[in-house]
Amino acid sequence: MKIFTFDTTLRDGTQGESVSFSVDDKLTIAQKLDELGIDYIEGGWPGSNPKDKEFFTRAAGLQLRHAKLTAFGSTRFAKNPVEEDRNVRALVEAGTPVVSIFGKTWDLHVRRALGITEDQNLLLISETVKYLKDHGKEVVYDAEHFFDGYAANPDYALRTLEAAHHAGADVLCLCDTNGGTVTARLVEIVSDVRKRFDGIIGIHTHNDSDLAVANTVAAVEAGVTHVQGCMNGYGERCGNANLASVIANLELKLGHTTVGPEKLAGLAAACRFIAELANLTLRNDQPFVGRSAFAHKGGVHVSAVLKDSATYEHIAPERVGNRQRVLVSDLSGRGNILYKLKQHGLGDRLSEDARRELLERIKQLEYEGYELEAAEGTFELLVRDALRPGAQFFDVDSYEVSTRAGGTGGSHTTATVTLRTQDGAHSATATGHGPFHALHVCLRQCLAKVYPQITEVRLTDYKVRVLDSNRGTAAKVRVLIEWSDHRKSWATVGVSDNVIEASWRALVDAIRLELMRLTEQDSSVERAVEDYCWGV
Ligand SMILES: [Zn+2]
Repeated sequence: MKIFTFDTTLRDGTQGESVSFSVDDKLTIAQKLDELGIDYIEGGWPGSNPKDKEFFTRAAGLQLRHAKLTAFGSTRFAKNPVEEDRNVRALVEAGTPVVSIFGKTWDLHVRRALGITEDQNLLLISETVKYLKDHGKEVVYDAEHFFDGYAANPDYALRTLEAAHHAGADVLCLCDTNGGTVTARLVEIVSDVRKRFDGIIGIHTHNDSDLAVANTVAAVEAGVTHVQGCMNGYGERCGNANLASVIANLELKLGHTTVGPEKLAGLAAACRFIAELANLTLRNDQPFVGRSAFAHKGGVHVSAVLKDSATYEHIAPERVGNRQRVLVSDLSGRGNILYKLKQHGLGDRLSEDARRELLERIKQLEYEGYELEAAEGTFELLVRDALRPGAQFFDVDSYEVSTRAGGTGGSHTTATVTLRTQDGAHSATATGHGPFHALHVCLRQCLAKVYPQITEVRLTDYKVRVLDSNRGTAAKVRVLIEWSDHRKSWATVGVSDNVIEASWRALVDAIRLELMRLTEQDSSVERAVEDYCWGV
């Protein structure tokens, strides 16, 4: 059955504490949601703030192929005749084909929040819906606090729906505004409404009880055909129903049509894209679309998944645009490593001993606090070392770094590095912006004499993390350094109780990896490692 998808990331989603979009972001996201095949995109509340008003003005220029843009607002104020209500007029002026309005369901809210009688509230609902219908709008009526209102006074809650229905509302959307309704109760209420009303019933849930997706899916099973939610579950307090998970469940578990199987494969990319614009990291453990959603770490799981992915995966990850990942870790059996090497045609190049040794080294490093999943550069170096034992390129004789501070001139850092290559000893001294920079300059100066090509790599990020924080300043630190060239980026990692030593190890690994790559073009190693570490 076709289930209509109504996205409110740009309206309810922006009520989330850490979510903020510029008007440009909102326009870009609307375009992306349209590409994903979403039916309705609620863009904002034009009567409430200038940003949303500007959004609708500029959204008129969007070339949406499928989605209907929707403006959101409330029923008229009690004191205003509907045609003079500024908010309602702003809804018409937003120029969207669809308008969603919320009205009060709960008698408590009618009396306390609005301070009017129950009959007056019914009039607000019916007059506002009728006015919008008379102006040619498709109207989604959001019954605010429907489930709480129904619990308090079912007759009145149903009368508010009736008011909207008789005035011509196209969708009666039942809202669990406070997110406190448990699934079985919600299904009972939805079923009662379904029996009493023809036409499209919708569902809008919040996640305060961690049930928003479950409630939405259950509501569909009880006869709802219009689902509202936010991508990645953004939204006020604990968020709205995660529309991405709702879509995946409806399509893949219940056999309904939302965006269709082809567009469904763009789901993970759309979620990442929106997270990026929200300046939030997509949660790794986000169901269906997160990096870890199909990541296997335990040795038993890995060996089973290699035989048949259905053993530990509830769907084929490709259907939602995600990928299976097999993680490198201290928990892994030998299957993990062999899996990727084999996949990239490298399995046969490692002897049984080399494989065992590689695994032992990985386990040892992880035990020491290395995090290889986040440091594919270091991991790639380990694999290359195993494939090509003895390719050392250089041995470090010594390194030294000192920082002198005092007077008014700030601090000065100088480093000296001496290393040995096959054609003898090389030494360099350099100053830098801090110890790491000075060492980096020295190392490259030494090696540039032997390997003049070694200049293309840029350092893009440097992170230090304390591993055993209960040991205070004597704690071990892990330094993660990110690098990139014109093609891609990668990270190397170093662990020590000395931050300079940890940085130095990550630096030396990065340089050795560069030399490995320069002297042996072996893209299959890089691809195997990328698959391991990033998966998506
Ligand atoms: Zn809401």
